[in-house]
Amino acid sequence: MATNILIADQETHFFSDVCKNFDHAAQFTKHDAGLLDQIKSCNSVYRFRFPIRKGNSFEVIDAWRVEHSHHQSPTKGGIRYSEMVNEDEVMALAALMTYKCAIVNVPFGGAKGGIKINPKNYTVSELENITRRYTVELIKKNFIGPSIDVPAPDYGSGEREMSWIADTYATMNPGQLDAMGAVTGKPIALHGIAGRREATGRGVAIATRECVSVGEDMQKIGLLPGLSGKRVIVQGLGNVGYYSAKFLSEMGAIIVGLCEFEGAIYNENGLDIEAVFQHRKATGSILGYAAAIQEFTNTMEGLEQPCDILVPAALENQITEANIRNIQAKIIVEGANGPTSPEAEAIFYANGGMIVPDMFANAGGVTVSYFEWLKNLSHVAFGRMNRRFEENSNLNLVNMVEGITGVALTPIQRSTIIKGASELELVNSGLEDTMIRSYHEIREIYKSNPEIGTLRNAAMVGAINKIAVSYQNLGIWP
Ligand code: NAD
Repeated sequence: MATNILIADQETHFFSDVCKNFDHAAQFTKHDAGLLDQIKSCNSVYRFRFPIRKGNSFEVIDAWRVEHSHHQSPTKGGIRYSEMVNEDEVMALAALMTYKCAIVNVPFGGAKGGIKINPKNYTVSELENITRRYTVELIKKNFIGPSIDVPAPDYGSGEREMSWIADTYATMNPGQLDAMGAVTGKPIALHGIAGRREATGRGVAIATRECVSVGEDMQKIGLLPGLSGKRVIVQGLGNVGYYSAKFLSEMGAIIVGLCEFEGAIYNENGLDIEAVFQHRKATGSILGYAAAIQEFTNTMEGLEQPCDILVPAALENQITEANIRNIQAKIIVEGANGPTSPEAEAIFYANGGMIVPDMFANAGGVTVSYFEWLKNLSHVAFGRMNRRFEENSNLNLVNMVEGITGVALTPIQRSTIIKGASELELVNSGLEDTMIRSYHEIREIYKSNPEIGTLRNAAMVGAINKIAVSYQNLGIWP
């Protein structure tokens, strides 16, 4: 009964929460009310149902695709596979995609999809049928295509599902040269890109590192600058949570807590992410991990343990008025979409905390999806044309410097300097540059007007201004 109430509550609030953030930020812009309304609204909401065969019977599946904004084409956004998914949620996530893309200067409008199933209740072959039929439904209504709307993975979906979508789209569009650009997050062997799988988590880690590197901001919230030794709790050990934890710990932070839906574990001296991940894989639970000092069967308690940084990377609506006062972190970095309610955010800031908002913090995924889409349209892997040329140029330079100075470099020094960039290195470099630039762009807005109040408002102000310019340039026709 209690769960039903929670689901109903989520159903009606997520999109209106995003709109609340929008309205608040819009006060700090000077755009026409009608234009703001156009930016805020979801342009197209496609709700559909389709049957699948399950054993000897039929089952009807509810599904959605929402295209929030067409100020840029194509639109872009993941597909969520969850029994909790609903129209309000897909609209909210599509809107966040619009703002996210604007914030990190990725030239897409926002979209999102949802399939209302618990993937654990279906065989692989049934999941394939559902995914392919979902794709066909999108094709029938012109809701998918490399220049129309490009899905990607989200909660409950991954490379496998993106492969099925790519194959279905290509089969239904024979001869379309750019067919592989109709979906991103594909495996590398099927025209995916190196670094996409870990991109969102890597982006979350870079966003966190950037945030804590600003001495002035850290002083205000009572932390020393730098990631080294910062205690971090991560919620969700899926794609975003696992990679966020992995890269944060590689950058010097200590992962003191991990929360999954079955419970949470804590050790103030740090947890080994890989070991916890393998333990969960083997036993089906993070509970029972030998090196955990504390365990909580109520997973929400895990969020309230001592730490400097909390990374919610599971689902929306996890941090609300009900638990925000118990959160001990000084910084929340939103790996998930919509994990903090507006009311909780206000309380957190009033108590001296700061939040790195979802629409920036988890934008690493769409950034690298953009690179994958570019790769698919250009039909060539990044680095393929210039790698050898770069290496030869570097080699000539090294030989010349050694000749002039008479100093011979060690073989390791030579190969480090000479080596041309691989696709993965180029992708990671583009991602890092995007996250760093975008953070400081947001922070500039945040600093320039103290009334803006939060990084989320600042990010939203920046997004609104960019989208408004696009719409104004486009005009209205017909
Ligand atoms: P995922 O399915 O790979 O992982 C989600 C994890 O959260 C799972 O391990 C699940 O067991 C866990 N979980 C579910 N409910 C929980 C709870 N109450 N407490 C603790 N853990 C719980 O999904 P993902 O792709 O990592 O997505 C997570 C979030 O990040 C979503 O909000 C998604 O929209 C957002 N996001 C994902 C991407 C991406 O590239 N995958 C990009 C941007 C944003």
